[in-house]
Amino acid sequence: MITAVPTAETVARTAPMKPANEQLLSVVTPVYNEEEVVDRLAAEIISALSSRSGPWEVIAVNDGSRDATLAKLVAWHRREPRFKVIDLSRNFGHQRALLAGLSHASGDVIACIDGDLQDPPALIPTMLDQLDEQDADVVYAVRRRRKENAAKTTAYWMAYRLMRWIMDIELPLDSGDFAVMRRPVLEAMLRMPEQSLFLRGLRAWVGFRQVPFEYERAARAAGEAKYRWSDLFRLAYNGIFSFTKVPIRVLGMVGSAAIIVSVCYALWLVGAWLLGAPIPAGFSTLILAIIFFSGVQLVAIRILGAYIHRIYDEVRARPVYLVRRFWNGDGRGDTA
Ligand code: UDP
Ligand code: MG
Repeated sequence: MITAVPTAETVARTAPMKPANEQLLSVVTPVYNEEEVVDRLAAEIISALSSRSGPWEVIAVNDGSRDATLAKLVAWHRREPRFKVIDLSRNFGHQRALLAGLSHASGDVIACIDGDLQDPPALIPTMLDQLDEQDADVVYAVRRRRKENAAKTTAYWMAYRLMRWIMDIELPLDSGDFAVMRRPVLEAMLRMPEQSLFLRGLRAWVGFRQVPFEYERAARAAGEAKYRWSDLFRLAYNGIFSFTKVPIRVLGMVGSAAIIVSVCYALWLVGAWLLGAPIPAGFSTLILAIIFFSGVQLVAIRILGAYIHRIYDEVRARPVYLVRRFWNGDGRGDTA
């Protein structure tokens, strides 16, 4: 039964919006082994936020870095308590680190930005203005151009088109996690604590009013890309398996086609036998058919396995990330 009891979201949506300059802005940035970049990152984010009026906080998530990243972040926190630092218990990967930050953000408006300065922090105020001007709930950045090597650019380009083609959601092309969103959108995303995270997919899934914002994606400021090919593959894979049932549908189609072909072939053989025509003694075709259909079955099992594994992951419901410490400016994390 559908009741009209106001839920947290309807309250959030119907509550009068605070004037723009009173809304708390949270900027969430995950970092992993970025010691060469964090100082510039912190300085650029803080200067971008100070350029506009209104309260703000930064939530930098250290995703198990093995270099001086954490120490540098904590030093920034000591200088500027609004620069908060979450230290995860180990490396959980970009998506989970981002989720950790988002879960700790208390802003009315939340911005997600990569920690390697590929997404310019100076754009955040412009994106916030767009949020108000266009009366939107999400302004997501769309990259006009990638400054990376041709192989990676092509891989991303193909991955996005492929994902959009087969997914059940409208995934904006060439857009990453760089975005600003209003609180109700974040709350909606946080209600889906999926293990195989694909945040930009969830963001697209929740709907609301989303508008694109074009920008030029810079090359990373320093250091190596932390996403390896295998991570990129996993991201695409998570996107595909969390948001589409197309692989299973394709299997059904291939299976049905195989059955129809084999029935036709059997009928043809019976007909030929009745007419007394010579029936080809096809040992090799038999072997070929066996190999082909064993292949089809293995692929089928593989795809089913991928979904079942996902169910297993969700059922175990392990925490998606673990926090070692949170320097949140209330003085508690600041000791030691
Ligand atoms: N990152 C992270 N954990 C990881 C890998 C990456 O927090 O396990 C951070 C990284 O420090 C950077 C952002 O996620 O701030 C994006 O990573 P990267 O630049 O490697 O990705 P790309 O720009 O190639 O997509
Ligand atoms: Mg990068």
